[in-house]
Amino acid sequence: MVQKGSSNQQKTEGEEIVKKRQGTEKAGLFGSFSGKSLIIFDLDGTLAPSKAPMDSEMSSLLAKLLEKRKVAVISGGSYAQFQKQFLASLDCPAGLLKNLYLFPTCSTSFYRYKTQGTGPGARSAGLRARGGGAESTGEWERVYREALSEEEKKKILVAFLKTFQELGYSSPKKTYGQVLEDRETQITFSALGQEAPLPEKEEWDPKQEKRLALKKVLDKHLPEFEVRIGGTTSIDVTRKGIDKSYGIKQIEKHLGISKKEMLFVGDALFPGGNDYPVKEAGVQCISVQGVEDCKKVIKKLL
Ligand SMILES: [Mg+2]
Repeated sequence: MVQKGSSNQQKTEGEEIVKKRQGTEKAGLFGSFSGKSLIIFDLDGTLAPSKAPMDSEMSSLLAKLLEKRKVAVISGGSYAQFQKQFLASLDCPAGLLKNLYLFPTCSTSFYRYKTQGTGPGARSAGLRARGGGAESTGEWERVYREALSEEEKKKILVAFLKTFQELGYSSPKKTYGQVLEDRETQITFSALGQEAPLPEKEEWDPKQEKRLALKKVLDKHLPEFEVRIGGTTSIDVTRKGIDKSYGIKQIEKHLGISKKEMLFVGDALFPGGNDYPVKEAGVQCISVQGVEDCKKVIKKLL
């Protein structure tokens, strides 16, 4: 009798432990991310509003996150854009920058922080970045860059012109800056121009219908290239196989971090979005609605 009772008691205790464990895992949803040593962020619409500087709250959240985990940023934007939008607003002790990895232009280039010469008196990333020009990497060292050939660039530009003609597409009456930009490793189409104000951009193609139509025709003309919708009004064209999943492979190769240890946070994880290849690559992803949403995710990771 005693034995039976003891066995039942054990069973009950066992069940309790299982229940508790399940409860803990459920309650601490982000607790299950403890094995993630690298958090990868998209830039536009995730860490900062499209083409706009990152705010100070996001900067301090990232600085705190860099104390605990490695952080990578992958975006369609150029390195110059990273400097303007991200590094110039990042106020973080230089000693933590060894944990930060930058992958501009859809990871066709990779920059990491040079640790040499960063003594206790080293200045913050923001001050360094403000001092640097577009080509100056300051303390940031370029590990690789894979530029398109002149022939490839020409082919892409011609395909855009043919696509516009076929669809009867003409640029909006008012545009701001370049519509088709050569970013060396990719060609980027921005419907309203590179410098367009965000409210106007948000109105232009909220459901991505215009860009999906353009992408469909571009895909036909550029079968050997990757055509992706990004930002609020952009389409990025790169060599085939160059998308954010390429960045994941580069991270595995250069940093020796496995996919299992990575967590990706982005706002375009839907099919056709420029973050989607990361999900397809098998990396665990968190979809966010914008900067404020992303801050909530970081707070839970701290
Ligand atoms: Mg984005």
